[in-house]
Amino acid sequence: MILILKHDIDTESSEYQQLVSHLSGLDNIELRIHQVQGVEQSLTEIYLIGSTAALSVEEMQSLSGVDHVVRVSEEYRIIGRHQDDGRANYFEYQGVRFGQDTLNVFAGLCAVDSPEGVEAMMKALRDNGQICTRMGAYKPRTSPYSFQGRGKNCLPYVFELAGKYGIKIIAMEVTHESHVGEIEEALENTGNPTGVMLQIGTRNTQNFELLKSIGRQQRFPVLLKRGFGITLDESLHAAEYLASEGNHKIVFGLRGMKTNIGDPHRNFVDFAHIPVVKRLTRMPVCIDPSHSVGSRSRGPEGILDMMHVTAQGVIAGANMILVDFHPNPSKALVDGPQALQLDELPLFLEDVQIARDAYERRVARFRSSQ
Ligand code: PEP
Ligand code: MN
Repeated sequence: MILILKHDIDTESSEYQQLVSHLSGLDNIELRIHQVQGVEQSLTEIYLIGSTAALSVEEMQSLSGVDHVVRVSEEYRIIGRHQDDGRANYFEYQGVRFGQDTLNVFAGLCAVDSPEGVEAMMKALRDNGQICTRMGAYKPRTSPYSFQGRGKNCLPYVFELAGKYGIKIIAMEVTHESHVGEIEEALENTGNPTGVMLQIGTRNTQNFELLKSIGRQQRFPVLLKRGFGITLDESLHAAEYLASEGNHKIVFGLRGMKTNIGDPHRNFVDFAHIPVVKRLTRMPVCIDPSHSVGSRSRGPEGILDMMHVTAQGVIAGANMILVDFHPNPSKALVDGPQALQLDELPLFLEDVQIARDAYERRVARFRSSQ
């Protein structure tokens, strides 16, 4: 059960203290208090965990300081969509809105290799009106002998160049909690020229200690990739780990499932789950066509499979696209074969817009027939 408190409540006030002491006295109930920083105001939410079935919503609603009460289902208590749930289903970061109704493109490098490569990428993004990107500094690789990413050494020039080219958010994978501190330090040292969305990769979807530590910080939003060999339910519970520690700014990423049933694609594309995630939870849904398809194969009409699956995801309501580009894919240190070229960016964006327009027309058409 979630008690959403009146928005102006002062946590030092006696009204608040009395409420908390009353709730603490309830049998077999544990309290978790979350401050949710919204765009205009901050909200205090009290999560009641334990034997809540015996509590009445009306009674909780009548307590002084409480604005409204949501009875949650057992599953996905925080990220889930519950009956009569009036909580906002979007968040803002760096002036960019992330919700189940928005679409943001994060085109960029799978892995940072050189300042020149980063600059060419950022310039192409700026010239095409883009303000978000992806840049891998810490790369989880199958072999310990493969290039592991430039790590913290590349962060200063990545952040400075982002500032120079007006990039507001960089999606960047972290594989260890110490990486967050390194990102914070580099942002500080460069004067905070940009923002970072922390990415948790498919290999770490169930790294519970990493999830808990990333969930405890609220400065950076998180892109959590679905685990490539586990059920959707298991991956959604992983997102709940982040939320249960206090970070509610989560985007859920579909990136294909590891099975040879998907051959010859690198992974079996799972974008049919976009409406499922949007129905079960309040999280915006990201698609990653690059890691799903993994090659530059194209259909007989000349359209790349990667662009086809992107369009399929967007037409089904995807809210974010994470896609690999590279100024010189044959020289890329990671995932060159799946990288799009910079001169393909305008066509990619145009194709995304065609699919988005079709999605919006579909939504309008279905709404008008309800
Ligand atoms: C990535 O996006 O660079 C990546 C490694 O993705 P995934 O975790 O989905 O494999
Ligand atoms: Mn990659």
